[in-house]
Amino acid sequence: MKKDQKIAVSEFFYSLQGEGRTMGIPAVFLRLTGCNLMCGGYGVEKDGILRDGATWVCDTIAVWIKGTTYTFEDLTELMNQKIDFINLLKKGVHLVITGGEPLLQQNRIVAYLEYLETEHACRPILEIETNATIVPSNELDERVHYWNTSPKLKNSGMPENVRINKDALHFFADNDRTMSKFVIADKSDWLEISTDFIEKGLVKKEQIVLMPAADSLELLLLQNKLVAEICIANQLRMCTRLHVEIWNQLTGV
Ligand code: SF4
Repeated sequence: MKKDQKIAVSEFFYSLQGEGRTMGIPAVFLRLTGCNLMCGGYGVEKDGILRDGATWVCDTIAVWIKGTTYTFEDLTELMNQKIDFINLLKKGVHLVITGGEPLLQQNRIVAYLEYLETEHACRPILEIETNATIVPSNELDERVHYWNTSPKLKNSGMPENVRINKDALHFFADNDRTMSKFVIADKSDWLEISTDFIEKGLVKKEQIVLMPAADSLELLLLQNKLVAEICIANQLRMCTRLHVEIWNQLTGV
């Protein structure tokens, strides 16, 4: 029975999509537990000190590192109680499955989507946010409306063999539902995107959206300008971080 199957969840909440091409759209966020990267450098989760050339740190580590494993039925009941989950999805609110790295649990995601369809007659408008290091299954791909990928640069502090999976990047580059968001901390980041991703056919220029690396409002306002300049000079799309603009460093909103 699908409803007895389980999935590891760190948090869920109803808000607005804060980044990327659907920025501003009402969305339920389901943050799954665990990630295969540690942006900021291995060890940053213990003391907050950036390592291995990282210039920014993942702002959700404290959330995705912990979690609870729920049966599909318990999770759905809890979300219904707290945020009227199924009704929101049926009204067209997007479901954004994020992490951590949600594709670590991709079989469970497919099973949960099947459960929503069979038990609740609900097939949501689905966005999946991924670091693009894992190739999605066909079963998952056919249910996804928007792939929001965020390939990582050197500025993440992650070694190349961990953050670059060519098979996964090719999969997303060839998928017309992909938008690839890059976090920019410095002007040199654009050069790296050009040489290491676009020129190698790992990302298409028209799929790219640049976003400032900023986990506070103060930093965001500074970095917005830098990213805007890069985008104007190179005919690229930019997005800011709506949730940082509105709620600053508060998570779960
Ligand atoms: S891949 Fe995403 S969730 Fe994982 S550590 Fe990096 S920024 Fe955080």
